[in-house]
Amino acid sequence: MALVNIHFLNLQQNYLFADIAKKVNAFKVMHPKADVISLGIGDVTQPLAPAVVEAMHKAANEMATAEGFHGYGPEQGYDFLREAILKNDFLPRGIHLDIDEVFINDGAKSDTGNFQELLHWDNFIGVTDPIYPVYIDSNVMIGRCGIYQGGRWTNVRYLPTTAENGFIPELPKGRPVDVIYLCYPNNPTGTVITKQELRKWVNYALKNDALILYDAAYQAYIRDPEIPHSIYEIRGARKCAVEFHSFSKTAGFTGVRCGYTIVPKDVSVSTFEGERIPLNQLWLRRQCTKFNGTSYISQRAAEAIFTPEGKQQIQATIDYYMDNAHRMLTKLRALGYEVYGGKNAPYIWMRTPDGMGSWQFFEAMLYGANVVCTPGVGFGPSGEGYVRFTAFGSHEKTEEALTRIENWTKKH
Ligand SMILES: *Cc1c(COP(=O)(O)O)cnc(C)c1O
Repeated sequence: MALVNIHFLNLQQNYLFADIAKKVNAFKVMHPKADVISLGIGDVTQPLAPAVVEAMHKAANEMATAEGFHGYGPEQGYDFLREAILKNDFLPRGIHLDIDEVFINDGAKSDTGNFQELLHWDNFIGVTDPIYPVYIDSNVMIGRCGIYQGGRWTNVRYLPTTAENGFIPELPKGRPVDVIYLCYPNNPTGTVITKQELRKWVNYALKNDALILYDAAYQAYIRDPEIPHSIYEIRGARKCAVEFHSFSKTAGFTGVRCGYTIVPKDVSVSTFEGERIPLNQLWLRRQCTKFNGTSYISQRAAEAIFTPEGKQQIQATIDYYMDNAHRMLTKLRALGYEVYGGKNAPYIWMRTPDGMGSWQFFEAMLYGANVVCTPGVGFGPSGEGYVRFTAFGSHEKTEEALTRIENWTKKH
């Protein structure tokens, strides 16, 4: 008899964005003429940079010849891309990594979800709350989170980040956590972490022999020169942190699929007997078994991001989105809303007015202004009473959405 992995049955309802789509579709059925604008899901809208497209064409042409054909590539990625990453994303920040500490992936969702496989099932995990749902759900699937009670998992340490603590999570008190997920710039709150605050986490991990899984998917949106782009800007991090990067938000690769993960050779975890096991070798072993590499064309596309034209072109698109973020912050603030983020990240995190619930506000704005946001509580219990707006729309749609929100807000 084939038995199911019962941990999957513990997962909560649907994926958040499936729930949102269901509610939006219900609205559209009732109002077929309404033109709904989505500032909800975190997908980009602007086309790929010309330098990237050119590299893809070139790679496709190579694949059409016997000499230029590429079959299976190295599971950990081609050296041309790994070298470009080291040279552009790390060396200028004074971070020296080895080429075999870089693992090319097919997007950071896979690796942030899969990495927990290397860890014993009863590690105690900590997450800042609200957070990208993948971290918790992937741990639920392996049975690491306990049971779901009152909107939270019994074996997860939630570290609230809210307006009340200035979106600065406190270090865990009581039972130390073994594994900590951090995401900065943060999805969903759009807030960032200073070097000083990040240093506290690295020191905590070193002191407690904990592992930090650091998601830097939005580092390209950082504008403040004091804010760290990588956890390896902090001394000691290469002993305790793994870092995930993605070209999805950096360069519009959500449909191309490429990113990378840094697993320093100095990061190790323990057996019960106290033997230290380096995660770099373990991750390589895992990838060679379960992953056959990111496509050659995607990796050539990613390499083009690091050319002078590529850099300039992707920066122009990031500036375009950040211009949206600025307009949203300014307008929503002028309307009297309490808004956060949006300065070093493409997300605006807004407190709902009059203590409304996240879903209640989501529906009110959908029906009143035909604009879609993401209910904050979908990202964790501390997200209740907030909603998220993304800056990934076009200028036109963003302006139109803001005008509708303005008219709707003034009616109340
Ligand atoms: C979008 C996103 C990712 C990256 O997703 P890809 O799989 O690379 O497209 C990773 N982490 C967070 C927090 C994200 O929002």
